[in-house]
Amino acid sequence: MRRREKDTATRGRVGIRWRLFVCLALFTAVILVTLWLFQVRLLSYFYEKEKFDEITEAADELQEYLAKDDLEQMAREQAKEQGICVCVFRVEGQDAVRIANADAAPNCVIHHLGDVVLTQLYDAARNNGGEYNKRFEFDNLGEEVDGHLPVFLRVRNSVNAIHVRVVEQEGTQYVLMLDCELTPVSATVKTLEMQFIWIACILLVATLLFAMVLSRIVAKPLILITQKAGRLSAGEFDVEFPDEDSYREVQELADALRAAATEIGATDRLQRELIANISHDLRTPLTMIKGYSEMMRDIPGENSPENIQAVIDETTRLSELVSDLMDLSRLQAGARKPQHTVFDFTETLRDAMTRYDTLIRHKGYQISFELQGAATVRADRTMILQVIYNLINNAVNYTGDTMRVRVTETVGESRVRLAVADDGEGIPPEQIKEIWNRYYRVDKEHRRAVLGTGLGLSIVKEVLEAHGATYGVDSAVGVGSIFWFELPLVSPDES
Ligand code: ADP
Repeated sequence: MRRREKDTATRGRVGIRWRLFVCLALFTAVILVTLWLFQVRLLSYFYEKEKFDEITEAADELQEYLAKDDLEQMAREQAKEQGICVCVFRVEGQDAVRIANADAAPNCVIHHLGDVVLTQLYDAARNNGGEYNKRFEFDNLGEEVDGHLPVFLRVRNSVNAIHVRVVEQEGTQYVLMLDCELTPVSATVKTLEMQFIWIACILLVATLLFAMVLSRIVAKPLILITQKAGRLSAGEFDVEFPDEDSYREVQELADALRAAATEIGATDRLQRELIANISHDLRTPLTMIKGYSEMMRDIPGENSPENIQAVIDETTRLSELVSDLMDLSRLQAGARKPQHTVFDFTETLRDAMTRYDTLIRHKGYQISFELQGAATVRADRTMILQVIYNLINNAVNYTGDTMRVRVTETVGESRVRLAVADDGEGIPPEQIKEIWNRYYRVDKEHRRAVLGTGLGLSIVKEVLEAHGATYGVDSAVGVGSIFWFELPLVSPDES
């Protein structure tokens, strides 16, 4: 049933292999799109920008030589080095005198422009803050310029980048004009597009293979650990989660599962032990009762008051055991919750005191009660009484030959503390933690059949924890033990 539920829950979920493939495919797609965008779509934009930058930089350098004698020489060098054309004019009144000239660009434009177009470019640069870049193409020249172009420029198919710069130096105005051809990139783009289709296909296949290999590496330890977890859930608590040389997350998962397996295993063992103990503890008094009763029925004269008392004692013990077991189970299952009321704690202790009168008077116990008085608490009175009885009963049961038990109430500023001290054997320090567990007994060899059910302190612990109270034990072997707990005080008017 549970397996079917699990199958339904996991059905329709995407496996790690597919998830990895999709992620990697997406990643590859992003890379491809980015490359395509920059290398194919924006290729001509970047190429033209680069070309304009080149001639602008050349203009920057030439600007330094404007008033110098080696301007022409410099212009030639620049032109040759970069495959560009250069014209430098000096403006003299309405005229412009060409002072440097270099022609190294194929299909140059600036050397073939008439005065009208040159003046237009000059004006454009001046109006544009001194610099003007023009993508010179017959198509985009417009009708106005068309009429001023020589025929061969009009029929020519080339596209040029022109940079015009107007510079003022020491009262003289210079005009720098540079150009270079912009080679069409459409053929390159076509080649790149073809290449891209191939690259995309190869990358897709590579992604698929890579995802498969990667998912195997990632998923394998997970699959193994899932199989083991399945065995654990089927009740195999000793299943091994070995320390394999895997990645950290899987190691952590294995550690967590190992801890869970240990914990569940311990709980399982405890449960089995508990069932065995309970059946043993219930069977012992029942066997005794049966034995005594049969003896009294079958053997004449055995119907003595002592034997009848033995049957009554065993019945009482059985009844106590059942009632303690019920209490503890209900507390642990959360079925019995504290019913809080405000009551006088000291008064409750006085009530409890009366219960020990017989023990004090007839059995020689010295049970002293030191009460400070006036302590009001908010708690479940019945449960707190149960705790008090359990602690005093234990002290009575385990106190030494002095037969002395001291019950002390200390009222502090915000809390009241109850301590039950005895002069008994004490509890070895390493066992102090264990005594609160059910059925735990310090002296296992000499389990006193008549004493306790082995559940008293577990009930005390459950009740005090349900109240959020602090509790503990101070014990020294051979000296005695002091069991104590503290409850917060409340004002008597509180309801
Ligand atoms: P039990 O019915 O055995 O008394 P409890 O749960 O009340 O069960 O106590 C658990 C164990 O703790 C006892 O078996 C005993 O070994 C130890 N213990 C409890 N109270 C005392 C005490 N006052 N002095 C010494 N040992 C004690």
